[in-house]
Amino acid sequence: MIDQVSQRYRIQDDYEQTKPVHVVWEITLACNLKCSHCGSRAGKVRPGELTTEQCFDIIDKLQELGTREITIIGGEAFLRKDWLEIISRINNAGIECSMQTGAYNLNEKRIVAAKNAGIKNIGVSIDGLPDVHNKIRGRSDSYQHVMRCLELLKKHTIVSSVNTVITKTNQFQLEELLDEFIEKGIKNWQIQLMVAMGNAVENEHLIIQPYELIDLYDRLIKVYKRALSHNIIVQAGNNIGYYGPYEHIWRQGNDAYWTGCSAGHTTIGIEADGVIKGCPSLPTSDYTGGNIKEMSLEDIWHHGEQMKFTRYRNEEELWGNCKSCYYASSCMAGCTWTSHVLFGKRGNNPYCHHRALKLHKEGKKERIRKIKEADGVPFDYGLFEIIVEDFNGNVLEVQNPLEIQISLVPQKKDLRVPMKMEICRGCNHHVFEGTETCPHCNENIEEAKQEYELNIIAAKKAYQNLLTLMESK
Ligand code: SF4
Ligand code: SF4
Repeated sequence: MIDQVSQRYRIQDDYEQTKPVHVVWEITLACNLKCSHCGSRAGKVRPGELTTEQCFDIIDKLQELGTREITIIGGEAFLRKDWLEIISRINNAGIECSMQTGAYNLNEKRIVAAKNAGIKNIGVSIDGLPDVHNKIRGRSDSYQHVMRCLELLKKHTIVSSVNTVITKTNQFQLEELLDEFIEKGIKNWQIQLMVAMGNAVENEHLIIQPYELIDLYDRLIKVYKRALSHNIIVQAGNNIGYYGPYEHIWRQGNDAYWTGCSAGHTTIGIEADGVIKGCPSLPTSDYTGGNIKEMSLEDIWHHGEQMKFTRYRNEEELWGNCKSCYYASSCMAGCTWTSHVLFGKRGNNPYCHHRALKLHKEGKKERIRKIKEADGVPFDYGLFEIIVEDFNGNVLEVQNPLEIQISLVPQKKDLRVPMKMEICRGCNHHVFEGTETCPHCNENIEEAKQEYELNIIAAKKAYQNLLTLMESK
């Protein structure tokens, strides 16, 4: 998994050169599961899916553009007849190939064939303990297939990871799931929140409410730390965060923090019929940059209007609580996919730790309420409004997205480069570099840093003394 992480890791040059470092490619929409949260409503083959030759051409173009990793997905990727040829071609192009799978019928023969074709990593979806997982995945024996697949991946020494979509029904099972992963020797666990797209719009009762994030993240951080003590890295998905006291932990490092959606800046999503988007999860209707059957991939990447929105965006497009947020210029309302599918426009994201905590301090909380169903096609969305209420459930405000007008015209010509941040050691919240007094806890940033460093030195000394004492006995 370390290799996979390093392939995806973005360096400054990737942003400056706008390289599609990581590509997520739906090679078919055919699927053998029927998941309650499936954004693409996968099941049947998508009309007009690309030919093998067209797929090869995409791989060659991505190689020229500087892609380092391609993750093939579906539907279920291995249901496409030429999936092994595609893996092989990616591998021969010097690009790392990984795959995400529901693992239903991903048997030993297929796993060995994928390994021989050059697959480097297989990520398997697990959405809870058996009953919950099977219900969400729409098959009573799905969990069994997942577990068998994990054993086979281990047997054939293919690097594996697991990923979990957090829902109302599995949010209290994360501890037990971790036990399962420890036993199975899993080293990498990716988590993300369920998003209101596709099938999830009809199953919105499964979606965590924004006000529940505070408790969820307090539980999750304990799971994260315990996982780490067993050498399991929990990777928080792009819709987890932002900027609460755990931000540096979610992003895997002291200096790391959320710097905004990277769709179309260093990421590409490809649909099975050749549609190109900045991110595979974004709604097709609003974020299609072009189709490779009509334009070259290079032209779509460099000039497609819908591909460029994260490169030149600014705070003008924010609204609601995100507009006045301290972190607005760095965060840009978090994950575009998560917020756009709620309101039919990006720029306001109630799925935010910082925001939930801030509202909580003011005696308020937010929830979402559906006001329109989705059309029933792949990657579609409905419409939700935000209800702000007090702790007794008295409604204080209703924010209807239809009443909000925002400007989506980029105001800047230069590429967007997020401002640098550091952590206030008084409260573990991020502040912009050069800040003297923390706006969150009023501590002097420099003094808090010095005290923190002294504490670390003292803790290290105490630990050394303890070791010496134990050795002398
Ligand atoms: S309120 Fe909006 S802009 Fe501020 S941190 Fe949260 S998601 Fe980001
Ligand atoms: S839309 Fe969300 S998932 Fe897609 S690139 Fe942006 S942050 Fe990531």
